[in-house]
Amino acid sequence: MISMPVIVFSDLDGTLLDHYSYDFSPAKSTLAALRAINVPVVLNTSKTLAEVIDIAAEMQLNGPMIVENGAAIYLPESDSQVPPLAESDVRGFSRQTFTKPHAYWSSLLTEAPEEFQPLFTSFTELGIEGIKQRTGLSTEQASKAASREFGEPVVWHGNDTQKQAFMAYLRERGAAPIEGGRFMHVCGECSKGDAMLWLCDYYAKQVYNNNKVTSIALGDGNNDVPMLEVADYAVRVKSPVHAPPTLQRDGNIITTEQAGPAGWAQALTSLILPN
Ligand SMILES: [Mg+2]
Repeated sequence: MISMPVIVFSDLDGTLLDHYSYDFSPAKSTLAALRAINVPVVLNTSKTLAEVIDIAAEMQLNGPMIVENGAAIYLPESDSQVPPLAESDVRGFSRQTFTKPHAYWSSLLTEAPEEFQPLFTSFTELGIEGIKQRTGLSTEQASKAASREFGEPVVWHGNDTQKQAFMAYLRERGAAPIEGGRFMHVCGECSKGDAMLWLCDYYAKQVYNNNKVTSIALGDGNNDVPMLEVADYAVRVKSPVHAPPTLQRDGNIITTEQAGPAGWAQALTSLILPN
């Protein structure tokens, strides 16, 4: 039996949201059951705050959220269970940040040497129309995705040697660029795993009287590896489009049989909601 208190940390796309339809209805009853026993479900995603707010509301989640791949934690001021984070009054949230703001990373790109300039297009340069073309998002979704507060995604046009030189330039200036499917994300040294551990520690001290928190992380992709490696329980939610991410850790790894929210619900039911 898993030891309480437990916090669930979940990726969105392909994990709690269906890869194709973005539906989460197969997980609805499990979300309700977790709410009933007071187990927090913390969304831990590469999405921006603007994108996550609506999704969290639909899921009736009103606790903390980790955005932009571990760049920051936002806590609604209406959450009465968890004391406010360091920075207060950020549009109805308190906030803990783990990296420099968007302006820093974006100026790193505009100030990059001449030779690199033709080789990439940043999110800012793409604009809403460009983002829509690249991602298939609607105008509203694209504008929410564009409202980045921390890292800046770029489309890379150059070859691999040029890319290595560009990434070296970024790393020398404190960036830890991550290569995603469509974009390279230029941001500081932060991760879903570091933000998760920070929040577990915060809950232990501030909410659970110094009782150790048991963390369960659920994800389907490579950017989930940092949280899957360090969680007490790692749940690899099956993806319809790629193999489960490779983990180095030993033990407490669950790989779901079903994809997306159905797999999500199945894993959590077997871990914390037996019978
Ligand atoms: Mg995912």
